[in-house]
Amino acid sequence: MRQLDLVYEGKAKSVYRSDEPDRLIMRFRDDITAFDGEKKDVLSGKGRFNAEVSAFFFRYLEEHGIPTHYLGLIDQSAMVVRNLEMIPLEVIVRNIAAGSIVRRYPFKEGTLLDPPVIMIDYKSDVLHDPMLNDDLILALNLVTRDELDLIKAIALKVNELLSDYLDARGITLVDFKMEFGRRDGEICLGDEISMDSMRLWDRETGRSLDKDVYRLGKGDVIAAYADVARQILSEPAGGAP
Ligand code: 5GP
Repeated sequence: MRQLDLVYEGKAKSVYRSDEPDRLIMRFRDDITAFDGEKKDVLSGKGRFNAEVSAFFFRYLEEHGIPTHYLGLIDQSAMVVRNLEMIPLEVIVRNIAAGSIVRRYPFKEGTLLDPPVIMIDYKSDVLHDPMLNDDLILALNLVTRDELDLIKAIALKVNELLSDYLDARGITLVDFKMEFGRRDGEICLGDEISMDSMRLWDRETGRSLDKDVYRLGKGDVIAAYADVARQILSEPAGGAP
């Protein structure tokens, strides 16, 4: 498969057309940004770890019945994906209060959120990703009521699958962000599932194992990404999942 022209460039990924119809190439770059793009750096090797982990999780989710855009890896930092009609929503599932929910609401960091809390932002750099509610999402005609219900149900199922998988490897899934699109009218999980889009804590020590290492200057980002990627791709101490 050949990589053709650039169709979309985000802060950390570039999407290219390919020479096959309806197949795109999603390349994970070494760029890392935080605070709405105010902090930025290039960290050699980051793209590779995020591509590897994303590809792994998409395969895992597909095996467990979640429809995704993932088709395969073409090199260490690029995935082949189906061309979805993307929906401009950032669907965040939170199991533990951390990050913006602690800054904006009276939660103490580390509070268990049971059942998990779903928050949905409008994906727009210009508008700084404002938070939406169901009425706003429907009024903006971003999805239908049925699609919104399905997106939330899939989000909770993905949360369950990823939480269990990570928990078996000593990692707590604090929260994570998903993006969805449509493929032949069906809702399908797109974008990435990586250390840039998840908040992960070491279950024993509470140490950050994700982009918070970069956001909050908590140490060597690449060492943390390499370490957590190795843990994610490893067999759990006690067997399945
Ligand atoms: P928070 O709202 O606390 O900043 O983020 C909640 C979770 O969603 C975190 O795991 C964070 O990495 C992810 N997240 C929120 N917004 C974005 C975004 O614009 N891009 C990416 N990659 N992840 C995001």
